[in-house]
Amino acid sequence: MEQVHLTHSRATSLYCPSCKKEYNIHSIQNFATCCNQPLVTNYNIKNVSKSIIDITDSSMWRYAQLLPLFNKDNLVSLQEGGTPNFLLSKAASTLNIHKIYLKDEGVNPTGSFKARGISVAVSKAKELGVTHIVIPTAGNAGGALSAYAAKADVKATVIMPRHTSETLKEECMLYGAELILLDGLIDACGKKAAQLKEEKGYFDMSTLKEPYRLEGKKTLGYEIAEQLNWKLPDVIIYPTGGGTGLIGMWKAFKEMKEMGWISGKLPRMVVVQTENCNPMIQTLNNGFIPEMYLATQTKALGLAVPKPFATDLIIDAVRASNGIGISVSEEEMERGIEDIAGSEGILLSPESSATYVGLKKLIEKDWIHEDETVLLFNTGSWYKYR
Ligand SMILES: *Cc1c(COP(=O)(O)O)cnc(C)c1O
Repeated sequence: MEQVHLTHSRATSLYCPSCKKEYNIHSIQNFATCCNQPLVTNYNIKNVSKSIIDITDSSMWRYAQLLPLFNKDNLVSLQEGGTPNFLLSKAASTLNIHKIYLKDEGVNPTGSFKARGISVAVSKAKELGVTHIVIPTAGNAGGALSAYAAKADVKATVIMPRHTSETLKEECMLYGAELILLDGLIDACGKKAAQLKEEKGYFDMSTLKEPYRLEGKKTLGYEIAEQLNWKLPDVIIYPTGGGTGLIGMWKAFKEMKEMGWISGKLPRMVVVQTENCNPMIQTLNNGFIPEMYLATQTKALGLAVPKPFATDLIIDAVRASNGIGISVSEEEMERGIEDIAGSEGILLSPESSATYVGLKKLIEKDWIHEDETVLLFNTGSWYKYR
């Protein structure tokens, strides 16, 4: 008999976050069609201690028991996660804030934190027998899918706005993916992906229209907690596009609380977007995205998501955490990159510079205080935006 190498995953089912209807975790799923919401993975985490962390694995798969993959032979990994989390000491003293951490996701495989979500999603797709995956992307998700699909021997089709940087297009082709370029933003690409799903039977890996990229991004929350010795920062500032990382971290925090790994108040979650495309700020402020809302292009490619599918879950996490939303301008992001490069010796991607600018604005508004610890992200490598 063939030997099966188990991950000892504690995943049990998928459910709709709105009506709690269950979906089968052992078959191919996209989203909760009952309420048009993302599907969320449920785990049996009663009496689970930190000893389930595989400390011999320096990648995010050290938390494999809290991820949805069942058979290790289906694992598709390029050593994603396990990224550094370090102090921006000069920025902290300039802004007069207790501590500013930077979680540097730019060092991930394919140069962005998209690798986390895509590693889990492609592994699961392989486990469930998917042979061709399609993804709409502003850039980084496409590169990540292309790389992991190559490793997994699965076909990939990437749909990207034509105006995206050449580096982001070229890497997809080098990894052997089919690349389709369209006029417009990621929502136009999403429509094309849905069409290819319908016509050709491709598996649609759009942000949160597939359950497992969320689980990969969840590992951000586990890593931050472990790296800070299970004491979370007061505030986390997240550059929000589709919202996967924000929702994922919030899920991780709730799971860790349930397992007793952390206690006390959870971080206040801040959504940062650009003035050119800020549907979540509009929703937080007005309760909805205006009917005629027109987003325009921004240098922060990962934030150019005019209509996030997971709007409800993003808003829920921000509100439940007593968080807030803040917008930044293109010029402020440019200056933020220069500030941090010239003082800390780190090149931030435009999305990540937005977290730093957001921090400055929230200090000015007196929403973040001197004695607080704040965590910022470098979600992708600056070098990909040439
Ligand atoms: C995708 C992306 C984001 C936004 O992430 P979401 O989880 O979709 O909100 C931010 N920064 C970079 C560099 C990205 O590629």
